[in-house]
Amino acid sequence: MDNCIFCKIINKEIPSTIVFEDDEILAFRDINPVAPVHVLVIPKKHISKLTELEENDEVIIGKIYKKINEIAKTEKIFEKGFRVIVNCGEDGGQEVGHLHFHLIGGKKLGTKICQ
Ligand code: AMP
Ligand code: ZN
Repeated sequence: MDNCIFCKIINKEIPSTIVFEDDEILAFRDINPVAPVHVLVIPKKHISKLTELEENDEVIIGKIYKKINEIAKTEKIFEKGFRVIVNCGEDGGQEVGHLHFHLIGGKKLGTKICQ
C-alpha cells in the first residue's frame, strides 16, 4: 500500500531494527518502546486492521503467534512472560493502519490492560 508506513518498513524505504524476517512476516523494534522488549510483528501482506481479515488470513495470524513465541525466546522473555496486544480501529487506539502485534515484556507489566 502506497502510503502505509509499515509497508515502507517492509520495503526498506524506512529504516527499522529488524529482529526477524521471512517471506511472510517482519518483526522489528517499536520506535517508542513502552518496556525493555517491545517488538512489532506484522504480516508482509497489507491487512489494514483485525476487522479486515480476508479468507485464509487466519493462516498468517497463526504463524505470527508461533513466531511471537520464538521471538520471546530469543528476547529472553519466554519463561517470565509477556503481553501481546493488537489495537483495532479508532476506539482501540490503532494509529498505524497495517495490522501489527505488539510483543511487550522484559519487566513486570501492570494488571490493568486498558485505561
Ligand atoms: P498502534 O497504536 O497499535 O497503531 O501502534 C503503532 C506503533 O507503531 C506505536 O507503538 C509506534 O511507536 C510504532 N511506530 C510508529 N512508527 C514506527 C517506526 N517507523 N518504526 C517502529 N515503530 C513505529
Ligand atoms: Zn501496509
